[in-house]
Amino acid sequence: MLKLNEQIYKAIRRHGEETYPHECCGVLLGRSADDINEVEDAIRAGNTRTDSAHNRYHIAPQELVKIQRQGRERGLDIVGFYHSHPDHPAQWSTTDFAEAHWLGCSYVITAVEKGVAQQTNSFLLTGPTEEEKAFADEPVAVEQQSDSLHHAAGPEVERCR
Ligand SMILES: [Zn+2]
Repeated sequence: MLKLNEQIYKAIRRHGEETYPHECCGVLLGRSADDINEVEDAIRAGNTRTDSAHNRYHIAPQELVKIQRQGRERGLDIVGFYHSHPDHPAQWSTTDFAEAHWLGCSYVITAVEKGVAQQTNSFLLTGPTEEEKAFADEPVAVEQQSDSLHHAAGPEVERCR
């Protein structure tokens, strides 16, 4: 399960609206325990795929290392990544799968239609090794400001504001 507060959830979705019609991408820092990836912060990353930024995303290795180091200084690990799909469903593509290498991390995708964020889904990269990796639909729990938990069942649940 991916757990994050409403503020971070909205920031991820807003990022996709801001970069539309291009993809946005970023890194999720937090803590991982008992099959729960709890997000403490979402770090925006530059999309280095300027050649086709509308359908691919990529975070520069140097930038990733920097984000990881800054996270560790705060006691946080990389627990996931997010990007947007401009005018495409919030489902992972074959490229997304091929470029996913962080086992146990959550890959969050927000569909942005005509500049407005729609569905946000999360996929957990599972498997004992890179060769046997797979994406699994992952529930997203958005913590409301009132501290009560709102559990969303999965991709079929509409969670627009
Ligand atoms: Zn994608």
